[in-house]
Amino acid sequence: MALIELQEIRKHYRMGDETVKALDGVTLDIEAGSYAAVLGPSGSGKSTLMHLLGFMDFPTSGTMLFDGDDVSRLSPSKRAWYRANRLGFVFQTFNLLPRLSVLENVRLPLDYARQARNANDLAREALDRVGMSHRIEHRPGQLSGGERQRVAIARALVNQPKLILADEPTGNLDTKNVERVMELFDALVDEGQTLIIVTHDLEVAQHARSIILVRDGHLVGTEEGGHSE
Ligand code: ADP
Ligand code: ADP
Repeated sequence: MALIELQEIRKHYRMGDETVKALDGVTLDIEAGSYAAVLGPSGSGKSTLMHLLGFMDFPTSGTMLFDGDDVSRLSPSKRAWYRANRLGFVFQTFNLLPRLSVLENVRLPLDYARQARNANDLAREALDRVGMSHRIEHRPGQLSGGERQRVAIARALVNQPKLILADEPTGNLDTKNVERVMELFDALVDEGQTLIIVTHDLEVAQHARSIILVRDGHLVGTEEGGHSE
């Protein structure tokens, strides 16, 4: 059984008299442990797909299974539960809270999931995994961009998510830090993490082990990526 199964997913938006078909019949399996890059031109439906996978939104029609459970029509509170307990998110702009320390930022998902016990230990462990345990008392503003993204990745890892969704995670990084972040992702996948990344950068996409190609709301192809051992 795949971790996620999308069956004939449609997401249509009403815009006055017109219907925008952001996704128009997407069928896709995401296997546990897989590492996929989502590619496609602007407006093709990548963000819509990521919103559905991230429980931020639900499909107009079609079925989405997560671990075998039908999650196509969950209530907002159930969707929030999946976000807090099953998913990790990494963003282009890091989205760290500037007034909180690194440690406090990383433990936030545990606070949302009301998992207060061991939260500091788990946050320290996650920071250790990304090589940032020497910065726990710093504020995000005291860190470089690459360091901020590693902290954001620690935050995404801290609740041991089944799936990490990364939206243009290297878009604000210089070349050296792009490489570091991608090496970190490679290591996480080697340890069994499932990861989906949206990117415009073909070199970044090369790290993934499969490509999900979106155009005009359709998948025009899924293929094995250029990853070499
Ligand atoms: P991408 O991420 O590939 O740029 P999107 O998923 O953002 O593409 O958008 C796909 C299509 O759906 C576009 O035509 C976009 O304008 C439209 N769209 C996305 N979100 C909305 C919305 N909330 N309301 C109306 N149209 C939307
Ligand atoms: P990197 O090691 O990711 O290439 P830099 O060379 O930009 O990062 O930064 C080196 C060190 O300087 C980092 O450890 C970081 O903590 C610190 N630093 C970077 N930017 C700032 C800043 N705006 N304020 C305080 N410290 C900073």
